[in-house]
Amino acid sequence: MNIPYGKQYIDEEDIQMVVDVLRSDYLTTGPAVHDFEQSVAAYVGAKYAVAVSNGTAALHAACYAANIREGDEVITSPLTFAASANCILYCKGTPVFADIKKDTYNIDPEDVKRKITPKTKAIIAVHYAGQPCEMDEIHAIAKDNHLLVIEDAAHALGSKYKGKKIGSLSDMTIFSFHPVKHITTGEGGMITTNNETLYRKLLLFRNHGITRDDSLMTRHEGGWYYQQLELGFNYRISDIQCALGISQMKKLERFVAKRRSLAEKYNAEFENIHDIVCPLQKDDCMSSWHLYVIQVPAPKRRKIYEEMHEAGIRVNVHYIPVYQHPYYQENGFKYVKCPNTEFLYERILSLPLYYQLEDNMQDFVIKTLKKILR
Ligand SMILES: *Cc1c(COP(=O)(O)O)cnc(C)c1O
Repeated sequence: MNIPYGKQYIDEEDIQMVVDVLRSDYLTTGPAVHDFEQSVAAYVGAKYAVAVSNGTAALHAACYAANIREGDEVITSPLTFAASANCILYCKGTPVFADIKKDTYNIDPEDVKRKITPKTKAIIAVHYAGQPCEMDEIHAIAKDNHLLVIEDAAHALGSKYKGKKIGSLSDMTIFSFHPVKHITTGEGGMITTNNETLYRKLLLFRNHGITRDDSLMTRHEGGWYYQQLELGFNYRISDIQCALGISQMKKLERFVAKRRSLAEKYNAEFENIHDIVCPLQKDDCMSSWHLYVIQVPAPKRRKIYEEMHEAGIRVNVHYIPVYQHPYYQENGFKYVKCPNTEFLYERILSLPLYYQLEDNMQDFVIKTLKKILR
């Protein structure tokens, strides 16, 4: 057996869409990019979408558009992939870690409040494992303190907060299309927004800060002319990748439904196991289940991890608290303490969860874990 914790699903229709683009005139900056953006924007209910080369680029672009500069503080979660905080550093801002809640594993609005200073500029809320953050509370705090809200929804394509899809609720929301996420483009990312000013900034940032738009340029010297207005990057995504994205979007609802049913089966099987804490399911939210994360007793976690791997089940740990990485420790975050995050980091374990996880494979995962715990 070789069962990863996450894996893409690609079918013949996906392959055909990519091949069609390879035979077309545009390999990049063509119609597939626009169509992919439209498809995601329509799905999440956002006015605008900007596709970029990966989720980290999407976070960088969002921080840039949010005008994060040297001296600005941005509050985010420590129980996340480092990119959620690195993007703040890219803009020379300072990440400030608010602790998470022990039941949702998401940023605690009360701790966000405590971490606000006159320098705070924005909040990056990470929907851990697909479970939506408490957005009403976060938006209320943001409004009171004039902060921007960016959602890191790398885990939450297809999730719903109080009946609304994640992707249209805040100033900006970012998605990732890495192969372990809900849909994939190989590498890819996107920012969705309802704000036209932010949208224009994101477009500039993706393409070196260059424009050909007359209304933005300081002069016009002829048909060849363009101007670089900002220091942007090449964060473009290719039409080859976006063709795959368009095709994958058609299957997203099926992907999410399968993840939910796998999660429900895990929940049912583990509910009464003494050594396992199952993930919370909230009534007012719907997780699209990027990860299925359990808690096991801290002294047993390593042994469980290793024995699962020996059985060919590649369970994982999401995540090492960001501020504990040597880079952060050596760059001013040595004294950060988030007790709930550290408590959970010692206990969490991500079990295999992906579209093609067959019943017999899931049964094997369940059986193996129960045997190790016995
Ligand atoms: C995957 C991920 C990212 C980064 O996305 P990439 O496409 O890999 O750059 C950012 N934040 C979180 C929470 C992620 O899981």
